Amino acid sequence: MKLFVYILLFITTWVTVIQGCKKQNELFPGEDSLSYTSAEAIKIYYSDSTQPFPILSAFVATDAEILKKHSHNVRISSDTTKYLINRMFRTISSFEGNINGITAPEIGINRNIIIIRRKDKTGSPLEVFINPKITQHSNASSEVQDSCITSPGVFPSYITRYNLVSVDYYSIDGSHHSELIEMETAAILQHEMAHLNGGVLAFTVDPLAFTGTEIDTIMADTLAMRIYLTTSYSDSLVLRKTSVNVRPDSTNAVLIRIINRMRLSLAASSGGVGIAAPQVGINRNIILVKRLDKIGKPVEVYLNPRIVNTTYKIINFAGDGCLSIPGVTKTTVRFAAVGVEYDLLDGTHHSEIIEGYSGTNFTAIIFQHEIDHLNGILFIDRAL
Ligand SMILES: [Zn+2]
Ligand SMILES: [Zn+2]
Repeated sequence: MKLFVYILLFITTWVTVIQGCKKQNELFPGEDSLSYTSAEAIKIYYSDSTQPFPILSAFVATDAEILKKHSHNVRISSDTTKYLINRMFRTISSFEGNINGITAPEIGINRNIIIIRRKDKTGSPLEVFINPKITQHSNASSEVQDSCITSPGVFPSYITRYNLVSVDYYSIDGSHHSELIEMETAAILQHEMAHLNGGVLAFTVDPLAFTGTEIDTIMADTLAMRIYLTTSYSDSLVLRKTSVNVRPDSTNAVLIRIINRMRLSLAASSGGVGIAAPQVGINRNIILVKRLDKIGKPVEVYLNPRIVNTTYKIINFAGDGCLSIPGVTKTTVRFAAVGVEYDLLDGTHHSEIIEGYSGTNFTAIIFQHEIDHLNGILFIDRAL
Protein backbone atom coordinates (compact mmCIF):
# COMPACT_ATOMS: atom_id res chain seq x y z
CA MET A 1 0.00 0.00 0.00
CA LYS A 2 2.75 2.41 1.04
CA LEU A 3 4.82 1.50 -2.01
CA PHE A 4 1.86 2.12 -4.26
CA VAL A 5 1.50 5.64 -2.84
CA TYR A 6 5.19 6.34 -3.51
CA ILE A 7 4.88 5.08 -7.08
CA LEU A 8 1.81 7.17 -7.65
CA LEU A 9 3.57 10.19 -6.21
CA PHE A 10 6.59 9.47 -8.44
CA ILE A 11 4.41 9.25 -11.54
CA THR A 12 2.51 12.41 -10.64
CA THR A 13 5.78 14.32 -10.11
CA TRP A 14 7.11 13.24 -13.48
CA VAL A 15 3.94 14.15 -15.22
CA THR A 16 4.21 17.61 -13.67
CA VAL A 17 7.85 17.95 -14.68
CA ILE A 18 7.13 16.83 -18.23
CA GLN A 19 4.21 19.22 -18.48
CA GLY A 20 6.47 21.95 -17.14
CA CYS A 21 9.06 21.17 -19.82
CA LYS A 22 6.45 21.16 -22.49
CA LYS A 23 5.26 24.53 -21.32
CA GLN A 24 8.83 25.84 -21.43
CA ASN A 25 9.32 24.38 -24.89
CA GLU A 26 6.18 26.01 -26.12
CA LEU A 27 7.37 29.39 -24.97
CA PHE A 28 11.11 29.15 -25.39
CA PRO A 29 12.88 30.19 -27.50
CA GLY A 30 10.24 31.53 -29.86
CA GLU A 31 7.43 33.49 -28.35
CA ASP A 32 7.65 34.61 -24.74
CA SER A 33 7.78 38.33 -24.07
CA LEU A 34 11.53 38.17 -23.41
CA SER A 35 12.24 36.78 -26.88
CA TYR A 36 12.81 39.00 -29.85
CA THR A 37 10.19 39.00 -32.57
CA SER A 38 11.33 38.13 -36.06
CA ALA A 39 10.86 41.78 -37.06
CA GLU A 40 13.19 42.81 -34.23
CA ALA A 41 15.72 40.15 -35.16
CA ILE A 42 15.76 41.38 -38.75
CA LYS A 43 16.52 44.92 -37.59
CA ILE A 44 19.17 43.78 -35.13
CA TYR A 45 20.96 41.45 -37.56
CA TYR A 46 20.51 43.66 -40.60
CA SER A 47 24.14 44.77 -40.44
CA ASP A 48 27.21 43.24 -38.87
CA SER A 49 27.86 44.06 -35.24
CA THR A 50 30.38 46.78 -36.07
CA GLN A 51 27.76 48.89 -37.83
CA PRO A 52 25.81 51.65 -36.04
CA PHE A 53 22.02 51.66 -36.12
CA PRO A 54 20.17 54.52 -37.81
CA ILE A 55 18.54 56.77 -35.17
CA LEU A 56 14.79 57.32 -35.33
CA SER A 57 13.45 60.85 -35.69
CA ALA A 58 10.64 62.16 -33.52
CA PHE A 59 9.51 64.18 -36.54
CA VAL A 60 8.92 61.20 -38.83
CA ALA A 61 5.44 59.78 -38.17
CA THR A 62 6.38 56.09 -38.49
CA ASP A 63 9.43 56.61 -36.23
CA ALA A 64 7.40 58.57 -33.67
CA GLU A 65 4.94 55.69 -33.46
CA ILE A 66 7.77 53.37 -32.33
CA LEU A 67 9.23 55.99 -29.96
CA LYS A 68 5.87 56.39 -28.20
CA LYS A 69 5.54 52.65 -27.45
CA HIS A 70 6.34 51.05 -24.11
CA SER A 71 9.36 48.77 -24.20
CA HIS A 72 9.72 45.25 -22.82
CA ASN A 73 12.40 43.35 -20.90
CA VAL A 74 14.88 41.09 -22.66
CA ARG A 75 16.60 37.79 -21.89
CA ILE A 76 19.80 39.21 -20.50
CA SER A 77 22.63 37.06 -21.77
CA SER A 78 21.14 35.92 -25.07
CA ASP A 79 23.31 36.21 -28.16
CA THR A 80 20.81 38.56 -29.75
CA THR A 81 20.89 40.87 -26.70
CA LYS A 82 24.69 40.91 -26.85
CA TYR A 83 24.66 41.64 -30.58
CA LEU A 84 22.10 44.39 -30.10
CA ILE A 85 24.13 46.00 -27.29
CA ASN A 86 27.31 45.82 -29.38
CA ARG A 87 25.63 47.72 -32.17
CA MET A 88 24.16 50.21 -29.69
CA PHE A 89 27.69 50.93 -28.42
CA ARG A 90 28.80 51.37 -32.04
CA THR A 91 25.90 53.74 -32.62
CA ILE A 92 26.65 55.99 -29.65
CA SER A 93 30.35 56.05 -30.57
CA SER A 94 29.53 57.04 -34.15
CA PHE A 95 28.28 60.46 -33.00
CA GLU A 96 30.57 63.43 -33.08
CA GLY A 97 30.86 64.96 -29.63
CA ASN A 98 29.71 63.40 -26.41
CA ILE A 99 26.29 61.80 -26.49
CA ASN A 100 25.15 61.03 -22.96
CA GLY A 101 22.95 58.07 -23.69
CA ILE A 102 21.06 55.90 -26.11
CA THR A 103 18.16 53.50 -25.72
CA ALA A 104 16.94 50.56 -27.78
CA PRO A 105 13.65 52.30 -28.76
CA GLU A 106 15.66 55.16 -30.28
CA ILE A 107 17.05 52.70 -32.81
CA GLY A 108 13.65 51.10 -33.35
CA ILE A 109 13.72 48.21 -30.89
CA ASN A 110 11.14 48.53 -28.09
CA ARG A 111 13.28 46.82 -25.50
CA ASN A 112 14.49 47.83 -22.04
CA ILE A 113 18.15 48.44 -22.79
CA ILE A 114 19.89 51.75 -22.19
CA ILE A 115 23.46 52.91 -22.42
CA ILE A 116 24.37 55.94 -20.35
CA ARG A 117 27.49 58.00 -19.86
CA ARG A 118 28.55 57.65 -16.23
CA LYS A 119 29.48 61.26 -15.45
CA ASP A 120 29.83 60.14 -11.84
CA LYS A 121 32.75 57.85 -12.69
CA THR A 122 36.32 58.72 -13.65
CA GLY A 123 36.66 59.04 -17.42
CA SER A 124 32.84 59.15 -17.87
CA PRO A 125 32.57 55.60 -19.26
CA LEU A 126 29.54 54.37 -21.19
CA GLU A 127 27.69 51.60 -19.34
CA VAL A 128 24.81 49.39 -20.35
CA PHE A 129 21.77 48.86 -18.12
CA ILE A 130 19.60 45.91 -19.08
CA ASN A 131 15.96 45.74 -17.89
CA PRO A 132 16.52 48.78 -15.66
CA LYS A 133 13.92 49.90 -13.15
CA ILE A 134 13.89 53.01 -11.01
CA THR A 135 12.81 51.78 -7.59
CA GLN A 136 13.10 54.98 -5.55
CA HIS A 137 13.83 58.64 -6.00
CA SER A 138 14.64 61.66 -3.85
CA ASN A 139 12.07 64.34 -3.15
CA ALA A 140 14.62 66.97 -4.17
CA SER A 141 14.76 67.76 -7.86
CA SER A 142 16.66 70.14 -10.12
CA GLU A 143 15.93 71.94 -13.35
CA VAL A 144 18.22 70.72 -16.09
CA GLN A 145 18.57 71.51 -19.76
CA ASP A 146 17.82 68.41 -21.74
CA SER A 147 18.20 67.34 -25.34
CA CYS A 148 17.61 64.19 -27.36
CA ILE A 149 19.20 62.58 -30.42
CA THR A 150 15.73 61.83 -31.80
CA SER A 151 14.69 65.49 -31.61
CA PRO A 152 17.63 67.57 -32.89
CA GLY A 153 17.25 71.31 -32.29
CA VAL A 154 14.45 70.86 -29.79
CA PHE A 155 15.24 71.21 -26.13
CA PRO A 156 13.48 72.91 -23.28
CA SER A 157 15.37 75.43 -21.20
CA TYR A 158 14.34 73.50 -18.12
CA ILE A 159 13.03 70.08 -17.31
CA THR A 160 12.66 68.76 -13.76
CA ARG A 161 14.68 65.70 -12.77
CA TYR A 162 15.12 64.02 -9.39
CA ASN A 163 18.55 64.61 -7.84
CA LEU A 164 18.93 61.01 -6.78
CA VAL A 165 17.45 57.78 -8.05
CA SER A 166 17.77 54.17 -6.98
CA VAL A 167 17.97 51.85 -9.99
CA ASP A 168 17.91 48.07 -10.36
CA TYR A 169 19.43 46.63 -13.52
CA TYR A 170 21.41 43.79 -15.06
CA SER A 171 24.80 43.82 -16.73
CA ILE A 172 25.57 41.83 -19.86
CA ASP A 173 27.23 39.08 -17.78
CA GLY A 174 23.88 38.52 -16.07
CA SER A 175 24.88 40.11 -12.76
CA HIS A 176 22.19 42.07 -10.95
CA HIS A 177 22.86 45.53 -9.52
CA SER A 178 21.06 47.94 -7.28
CA GLU A 179 22.60 51.38 -7.22
CA LEU A 180 22.00 54.94 -6.09
CA ILE A 181 22.82 57.40 -8.85
CA GLU A 182 23.11 61.13 -8.30
CA MET A 183 22.77 64.47 -10.05
CA GLU A 184 23.92 64.75 -13.69
CA THR A 185 24.12 60.99 -14.22
CA ALA A 186 20.73 60.62 -12.52
CA ALA A 187 19.28 63.19 -14.94
CA ILE A 188 20.73 61.28 -17.93
CA LEU A 189 19.34 58.03 -16.56
CA GLN A 190 15.87 59.57 -16.10
CA HIS A 191 15.88 60.87 -19.70
CA GLU A 192 16.73 57.40 -21.02
CA MET A 193 14.25 55.67 -18.70
CA ALA A 194 11.53 57.98 -20.06
CA HIS A 195 12.24 56.55 -23.54
CA LEU A 196 11.47 53.05 -22.26
CA ASN A 197 8.03 54.29 -21.24
CA GLY A 198 7.37 55.85 -24.63
CA GLY A 199 8.38 59.34 -23.55
CA VAL A 200 9.85 61.53 -26.27
CA LEU A 201 11.32 64.87 -25.36
CA ALA A 202 9.95 66.61 -28.45
CA PHE A 203 6.40 65.74 -27.37
CA THR A 204 6.81 66.60 -23.72
CA VAL A 205 8.54 69.92 -24.23
CA ASP A 206 6.90 72.74 -22.35
CA PRO A 207 5.50 75.00 -25.11
CA LEU A 208 6.36 78.03 -22.99
CA ALA A 209 10.02 77.04 -22.80
CA PHE A 210 12.46 78.36 -25.41
CA THR A 211 13.43 75.86 -28.09
CA GLY A 212 17.02 74.88 -28.73
CA THR A 213 17.20 76.98 -31.88
CA GLU A 214 15.84 80.00 -30.02
CA ILE A 215 18.32 79.54 -27.21
CA ASP A 216 21.21 79.25 -29.68
CA THR A 217 20.17 82.47 -31.45
CA ILE A 218 19.52 84.47 -28.28
CA MET A 219 22.60 83.33 -26.35
CA ALA A 220 24.97 83.66 -29.33
CA ASP A 221 26.14 87.07 -28.06
CA THR A 222 25.15 90.07 -25.94
CA LEU A 223 24.92 92.70 -28.69
CA ALA A 224 21.88 94.26 -30.35
CA MET A 225 19.96 91.70 -32.39
CA ARG A 226 19.52 92.22 -36.11
CA ILE A 227 16.19 93.76 -37.11
CA TYR A 228 14.23 91.56 -39.50
CA LEU A 229 13.08 93.41 -42.61
CA THR A 230 10.13 92.95 -44.94
CA THR A 231 12.51 93.35 -47.89
CA SER A 232 13.95 89.91 -47.12
CA TYR A 233 11.72 86.97 -48.01
CA SER A 234 12.93 84.73 -45.15
CA ASP A 235 12.67 87.62 -42.65
CA SER A 236 9.14 88.41 -43.75
CA LEU A 237 8.07 84.81 -43.13
CA VAL A 238 9.11 85.26 -39.48
CA LEU A 239 7.43 88.68 -39.27
CA ARG A 240 4.19 87.18 -40.60
CA LYS A 241 4.11 84.27 -38.16
CA THR A 242 1.94 84.22 -35.02
CA SER A 243 4.12 84.21 -31.90
CA VAL A 244 3.70 82.10 -28.78
CA ASN A 245 3.82 82.92 -25.08
CA VAL A 246 6.84 82.73 -22.80
CA ARG A 247 7.02 81.77 -19.16
CA PRO A 248 7.64 84.88 -17.06
CA ASP A 249 10.75 84.09 -15.01
CA SER A 250 13.26 86.66 -13.81
CA THR A 251 15.84 83.89 -13.27
CA ASN A 252 15.68 82.60 -16.87
CA ALA A 253 18.97 83.69 -18.42
CA VAL A 254 17.63 83.26 -21.96
CA LEU A 255 14.62 85.50 -21.32
CA ILE A 256 16.79 88.16 -19.66
CA ARG A 257 19.26 88.02 -22.54
CA ILE A 258 16.67 88.49 -25.28
CA ILE A 259 15.12 91.42 -23.41
CA ASN A 260 18.51 93.08 -22.99
CA ARG A 261 19.39 92.51 -26.62
CA MET A 262 16.00 93.84 -27.78
CA ARG A 263 16.65 96.97 -25.70
CA LEU A 264 19.94 97.42 -27.55
CA SER A 265 18.26 96.89 -30.93
CA LEU A 266 15.62 99.49 -30.08
CA ALA A 267 18.19 101.94 -28.76
CA ALA A 268 20.24 101.55 -31.95
CA SER A 269 17.25 102.54 -34.09
CA SER A 270 16.59 106.17 -34.86
CA GLY A 271 13.48 107.29 -33.01
CA GLY A 272 12.09 103.81 -32.34
CA VAL A 273 9.43 103.75 -29.62
CA GLY A 274 8.74 100.05 -29.50
CA ILE A 275 9.95 96.63 -30.63
CA ALA A 276 8.47 93.13 -30.70
CA ALA A 277 10.41 89.84 -30.47
CA PRO A 278 9.49 88.66 -34.01
CA GLN A 279 11.34 91.74 -35.29
CA VAL A 280 14.55 90.19 -33.97
CA GLY A 281 13.66 86.77 -35.37
CA ILE A 282 12.10 85.20 -32.27
CA ASN A 283 8.38 84.36 -32.52
CA ARG A 284 7.63 84.95 -28.86
CA ASN A 285 5.16 87.24 -27.17
CA ILE A 286 7.59 89.83 -25.84
CA ILE A 287 7.34 93.55 -26.55
CA LEU A 288 9.20 96.63 -25.40
CA VAL A 289 7.29 99.90 -25.31
CA LYS A 290 8.58 103.40 -24.67
CA ARG A 291 6.02 104.68 -22.17
CA LEU A 292 5.46 108.18 -23.54
CA ASP A 293 2.69 108.53 -20.94
CA LYS A 294 5.09 108.14 -18.01
CA ILE A 295 7.59 110.54 -16.46
CA GLY A 296 11.05 109.91 -17.89
CA LYS A 297 9.53 107.90 -20.79
CA PRO A 298 10.96 104.53 -19.65
CA VAL A 299 11.19 101.58 -22.06
CA GLU A 300 9.17 98.83 -20.37
CA VAL A 301 8.94 95.09 -21.08
CA TYR A 302 5.64 93.24 -21.45
CA LEU A 303 5.35 89.48 -21.72
CA ASN A 304 2.36 87.74 -23.31
CA PRO A 305 0.49 91.02 -23.86
CA ARG A 306 -2.93 91.03 -25.45
CA ILE A 307 -5.62 93.57 -26.14
CA VAL A 308 -8.73 92.64 -24.16
CA ASN A 309 -10.94 95.58 -25.05
CA THR A 310 -11.00 98.71 -27.16
CA THR A 311 -12.76 102.05 -27.31
CA TYR A 312 -15.53 102.75 -29.81
CA LYS A 313 -13.53 105.74 -30.86
CA ILE A 314 -11.42 105.03 -33.94
CA ILE A 315 -8.76 107.48 -35.02
CA ASN A 316 -6.56 107.95 -38.04
CA PHE A 317 -3.02 108.00 -36.76
CA ALA A 318 -0.70 109.95 -39.03
CA GLY A 319 2.91 108.88 -39.18
CA ASP A 320 2.84 105.19 -38.20
CA GLY A 321 6.12 103.48 -39.04
CA CYS A 322 8.12 100.36 -38.28
CA LEU A 323 11.76 99.33 -37.72
CA SER A 324 11.11 96.39 -40.05
CA ILE A 325 9.89 98.63 -42.89
CA PRO A 326 12.41 101.49 -42.82
CA GLY A 327 11.64 104.73 -44.64
CA VAL A 328 7.89 104.12 -44.89
CA THR A 329 5.28 106.07 -42.91
CA LYS A 330 1.55 105.85 -43.34
CA THR A 331 -1.67 106.89 -41.67
CA THR A 332 -3.20 103.92 -39.87
CA VAL A 333 -6.61 103.22 -38.41
CA ARG A 334 -6.31 102.67 -34.66
CA PHE A 335 -8.31 102.65 -31.46
CA ALA A 336 -8.03 105.74 -29.28
CA ALA A 337 -7.42 103.60 -26.19
CA VAL A 338 -7.03 99.89 -25.43
CA GLY A 339 -7.37 97.65 -22.42
CA VAL A 340 -4.38 95.31 -22.22
CA GLU A 341 -3.36 92.37 -20.09
CA TYR A 342 0.22 91.24 -19.72
CA ASP A 343 2.72 89.48 -17.48
CA LEU A 344 5.80 91.06 -16.02
CA LEU A 345 9.15 89.34 -15.66
CA ASP A 346 8.47 88.65 -11.96
CA GLY A 347 5.46 86.51 -12.90
CA THR A 348 2.79 89.01 -11.88
CA HIS A 349 -0.21 89.47 -14.16
CA HIS A 350 -1.56 92.95 -14.91
CA SER A 351 -4.51 94.63 -16.52
CA GLU A 352 -4.20 98.21 -17.65
CA ILE A 353 -5.98 100.80 -19.81
CA ILE A 354 -3.56 102.48 -22.19
CA GLU A 355 -4.35 105.94 -23.49
CA GLY A 356 -2.67 108.43 -25.78
CA TYR A 357 -3.05 108.60 -29.55
CA SER A 358 -1.59 111.93 -30.60
CA GLY A 359 1.04 114.59 -29.99
CA THR A 360 3.78 113.60 -27.56
CA ASN A 361 1.76 110.76 -26.07
CA PHE A 362 0.69 108.05 -28.52
CA THR A 363 1.26 105.13 -26.15
CA ALA A 364 -2.04 103.46 -27.10
CA ILE A 365 -0.86 103.36 -30.71
CA ILE A 366 2.51 101.85 -29.76
CA PHE A 367 0.80 99.03 -27.82
CA GLN A 368 -1.50 98.28 -30.77
CA HIS A 369 1.42 98.35 -33.23
CA GLU A 370 3.63 96.03 -31.12
CA ILE A 371 0.86 93.57 -30.20
CA ASP A 372 -0.03 93.42 -33.92
CA HIS A 373 3.54 92.19 -34.56
CA LEU A 374 2.90 89.22 -32.26
CA ASN A 375 0.01 88.22 -34.50
CA GLY A 376 1.97 88.63 -37.72
CA ILE A 377 0.25 91.93 -38.54
CA LEU A 378 2.23 94.90 -39.85
CA PHE A 379 1.22 98.57 -39.74
CA ILE A 380 0.87 98.65 -43.53
CA ASP A 381 -2.08 96.25 -43.06
CA ARG A 382 -3.81 98.97 -41.03
CA ALA A 383 -2.97 101.83 -43.42
CA LEU A 384 -5.66 103.99 -44.97
ZN1 LIG B 1 16.60 60.80 -25.90
ZN1 LIG C 1 6.86 97.57 -36.09
